[in-house]
Amino acid sequence: MSLYNRILLKLSGEALAGEQGFGIVPDAIQSICLEVKNLKETGIQIAVVIGGGNIFRGISASSQGMDRVTADYMGMLATVINGLALQDEFEKIDVSARLISSIPIVEISEPFVLRRTIKYLAEGHIVIFAGGTGNPYFSTDTAASLRAAQIKADAILKGTKVDGVYESDPVCNPGAKKFDTITYNEVLERGLKVMDATAIAMCRDNRIPIVVFNLKTDGELMRVVNGESVGTLVKEKVNG
Ligand code: UDP
Repeated sequence: MSLYNRILLKLSGEALAGEQGFGIVPDAIQSICLEVKNLKETGIQIAVVIGGGNIFRGISASSQGMDRVTADYMGMLATVINGLALQDEFEKIDVSARLISSIPIVEISEPFVLRRTIKYLAEGHIVIFAGGTGNPYFSTDTAASLRAAQIKADAILKGTKVDGVYESDPVCNPGAKKFDTITYNEVLERGLKVMDATAIAMCRDNRIPIVVFNLKTDGELMRVVNGESVGTLVKEKVNG
């Protein structure tokens, strides 16, 4: 029995890059799309916000001298490339998907129109949001919180390389404690790398729970939605 009716799945660009860490690896996309397909077959409505870090990150390019605004638009365009790859893979496995870009590119994507997006979700299409928020100086995590608020998603599911939120990096510090539940404010106060601060604050102010889970573990997405105790839940109060 699913905990949620409508979810927003945040995928970083890196999720599409597999072990390679950059670019697009067909096997990596395929395994993600199959997990999403299994979930969709339970009847849940699914929107995806896709990142672009496997191709281009504005902040790194600007630290090497590029104009930040230009670099951020390049990053947003990278998310559209990833969105096309996801849409293509969904269609290959007979899942209907609609690519919606915050930067209008009419030949290959649709603009964001809230009522149309809700209709697509209700009709059972997967909605893929690309182009971030459409504005420089933001991230696709913030796009996830913005779109989740707009479509009234029950939760943001953030797929990562680790199985939840730790007090410190579990790779450098194997004894680091994992949180089962943590508040938005604690994430912000401790500076934990769940999502950037703008995104966390927006989720807090709009009471959107975030579940951080390991995207690489088979079936984990389904377990999160079934309410099994996997990953870390970020919410307003730890007990309640
Ligand atoms: N970006 C932006 N505005 C947004 C979303 C993204 O300018 O609303 C740019 C920014 O340069 C960012 C890049 O797009 O580095 C890719 O997005 P992000 O780093 O969030 O991707 P992810 O880490 O999820 O792969």
